[in-house]
Amino acid sequence: MNCKDAELILVDLIKDEIDSTIKSDLMLHLESCAICSKKYQEYQKINKAIKNSLML
Ligand SMILES: [Zn+2]
Repeated sequence: MNCKDAELILVDLIKDEIDSTIKSDLMLHLESCAICSKKYQEYQKINKAIKNSLML
């Protein structure tokens, strides 16, 4: 997996439209790539913010 693929998967991750196999591939990439790992953390924050705003 390259960084471009990883970013696309991060977007799908927010929408909860991700296969568990793909997700484990993503996790492997995140372990070896600091840039995508940081993006993942940012996406997680966005994801939480979206979920919180839906609950209001
Ligand atoms: Zn990467």
